[in-house]
Amino acid sequence: MADRKVVIIGSGPAGLTAALYTARGNLSPLLVEGLEAGGQLTLTSLVENYPGFRAGIQGPDLMEEMRQQAAHFGAEIVQGNVTAADLSRSPFTLQLADGRSITTQTLIIATGASARWLDIGSDRKLSGRGVSTCATCDGYFFRQKPIAVVGGGDSAMEEAIYLARLASKVTVIHRRDTLRASKIMQDKAFKNPKIEFIWDSEVADVKDVDKGHVTGVVVRNLKTGALTDVPLDGIFIAIGHTPNTSLFTGQLDLDENGYIVTRHGTQTSVPGVFAAGDVQDHVYRQAVTAAGTGCMAALDAERYLEGIPEEVETDEQTVSA
Ligand code: NAP
Repeated sequence: MADRKVVIIGSGPAGLTAALYTARGNLSPLLVEGLEAGGQLTLTSLVENYPGFRAGIQGPDLMEEMRQQAAHFGAEIVQGNVTAADLSRSPFTLQLADGRSITTQTLIIATGASARWLDIGSDRKLSGRGVSTCATCDGYFFRQKPIAVVGGGDSAMEEAIYLARLASKVTVIHRRDTLRASKIMQDKAFKNPKIEFIWDSEVADVKDVDKGHVTGVVVRNLKTGALTDVPLDGIFIAIGHTPNTSLFTGQLDLDENGYIVTRHGTQTSVPGVFAAGDVQDHVYRQAVTAAGTGCMAALDAERYLEGIPEEVETDEQTVSA
């Protein structure tokens, strides 16, 4: 006998929506919050693109509402972190940092992906005050203002192109003199008259921590060492995300970037284990899409517990197992 029917790891929109649905489905879910309780939305300020809030809502407030809503319907939410998972046999066994061990019939993984930061300190201190890791979330605040994007990959180009529609000017700061981004994204960025590039350079500092908001960046040329002040109102860091999947390496199918591979909704390669939110999505990465897949994972887990066959793919066709 397993201790639990459903355990959810992660407390962003995906995890909390899965908790809400499984709680309302009488499955008494246990949700383990994880290290970054509330997920990436707790790092942002005003969220204007989550439906239902005509004047927007602060990211931390949105997460608190979701948490309270899930708890109201009976989800048990515990602080802490899962340090080990054994998915080799059902019920699955999870080890918590406080020494507890839990067995569960189904597992919903909603551990998210963490945006990479620059490791200069000032970028994190000014997070939500002009420094952002999400153009779709925060670009609107920089209408007709000069901003920078750091990075040379597809994400950086995508963000720069998106932001060029809003900002007065977008300066891409990249540490090499060639981009990693795909040719098509490079071409689009090069053709855009609002996008400029500073090559072979890194951000040495984001100003102004004392003022509590971004006034500019100090750029270091990596070839000459020269430091240049660039006045700006905002800076978007797009140097990649790291999916939080280290617990599952070797146990679940992951793609080449470490994201969990899902099929037919939220099924992973292990029956009874489902994944939702950014841990399995490097394309959309929105709160509302994460919440949507959290709902899907809850419904998939319910169906699994009811013994409704999962879809299994063969070479020729999709059949029910
Ligand atoms: P990525 O391809 O890993 O690119 C990260 C970029 O950030 C690289 O240019 C890298 O520089 C730079 N970088 C890394 N660490 C840095 C640091 N500490 N300081 C300064 N710069 C740093 O990541 P991504 O752009 O997020 O893309 C991830 C995956 O998703 C890729 O496979 C990408 O193709 C895919 N994606 C696709 C699309 C699309 O098709 N529309 C959109 C977004 C993402 P270097 O180049 O010098 O290493």
